[in-house]
Amino acid sequence: MTLYLTNGRVIDCATDRLEPYPATVVIEGPQIVAIHERDDGPIPLLPDATVIDLGGRYLLPGLWDCHCHPGGMIPDPHRIACFETEAELTLRALRNTMAALRVGVTALRATGDASFVDIALRETFANRQPAGLWKRGYDDKRLHGPRLFCAGIGIRITGGHGSNGRVEEVYTRSCLEADGPAAVAQAARYVMKMGADWVKLMITGGIAGIREGMGESQMTFDEIKAACEAAHRKGLKVCAHTGAAAAAKEGIRAGLDSIEHGYQLDEEACEMMAERGVYYCPTLSVTHDEEYMRRWEWPDYSIRRALEGAEAHRRALETALKAGVKIVNGADLNPIADTAIAEIEWVVKAGMTPAQALIASTRRPAEMCGVEDILGTITAGKLADLIVVEANPLQNISALRQVQMVLKEGEIIVDRLGNAVNRFDRLAAASIPL
Ligand SMILES: [Zn+2]
Repeated sequence: MTLYLTNGRVIDCATDRLEPYPATVVIEGPQIVAIHERDDGPIPLLPDATVIDLGGRYLLPGLWDCHCHPGGMIPDPHRIACFETEAELTLRALRNTMAALRVGVTALRATGDASFVDIALRETFANRQPAGLWKRGYDDKRLHGPRLFCAGIGIRITGGHGSNGRVEEVYTRSCLEADGPAAVAQAARYVMKMGADWVKLMITGGIAGIREGMGESQMTFDEIKAACEAAHRKGLKVCAHTGAAAAAKEGIRAGLDSIEHGYQLDEEACEMMAERGVYYCPTLSVTHDEEYMRRWEWPDYSIRRALEGAEAHRRALETALKAGVKIVNGADLNPIADTAIAEIEWVVKAGMTPAQALIASTRRPAEMCGVEDILGTITAGKLADLIVVEANPLQNISALRQVQMVLKEGEIIVDRLGNAVNRFDRLAAASIPL
């Protein structure tokens, strides 16, 4: 099928200077095949084409959330996760991710999930499950969710970040505990064996645990290095939950590819990241969104720690921006559909321009995950993961909340434009004006 998205204003996210331009985007099957700008003249229309008039709305690449836990409940004040079964966890994670796609989040990087549920979701949304003979029964009944890049189960030291002290999960496992370089390398290899695209380490304390702090260095240099070497040998990357600047620097020297949160990053850490091309996913929401914390009944110690850390966290992002660190957006909160776009608003409030924020939610994540040749921008030849919004997000980033259409690989997932779809045979002209 050929699909023409006409009369739209394209924000392609392909360069650093974003300016919407009027164009018709032509999609064939899963792929963008052409972008006709206004001065290209009338466009030849294929006989079986579908035309959607975007009515001057804005067309962008689908959004990414680069730090999420689809099956997570963080910080889980009532410890529900401890007694949840894998089936319950899986169904909740499925709803969470399917809902995310409907608000325009077409790709996720899952940074640590119990029982490898993220990997199961990745395969499901790629419609690679169920396997074998029974696949035939489902081939024409595709299940739609975002594309996932997965870290599987995260790795921490015994009692490290995210542990509930002596309370363990009964039916699921959200983190592997490993001590010493050999054990950490083994845990990383196990996660990769299970199908992970990334390895996730917890190298410092954070907000969620009772007896820990953001500034608490947990994993040693040798442990981090062991995981990085194991992953890099396989061509995979390592991301790390990081608080203190000293731990970040140690982690960067040990070979980390991305720093998560970076609550206390200083100038030196940011310069090292910029120099070595280490990505930064700030997840500002987790220290800034007090309303969210109260609504989800975060324990008082978490709220206090988060809010006390907010200013240093904001300064870390500012310092990273100044140093030219490559930034990607991710909220680290659930449900993803409620928090992914709020995070983009937070980084803009903290000093990113809307253009920088859009790039951090589109092109940069694709580059970070090594799929920049097929995703991240509106470019002929790339996959048609696209969103249509009502107003210009470069003027007001909150325009991302008014998503009118979502396409994944050329398939229309959401269409709030009503009867905008016109079959070619109902059109009088053989070509469409821009
Ligand atoms: Zn996280």
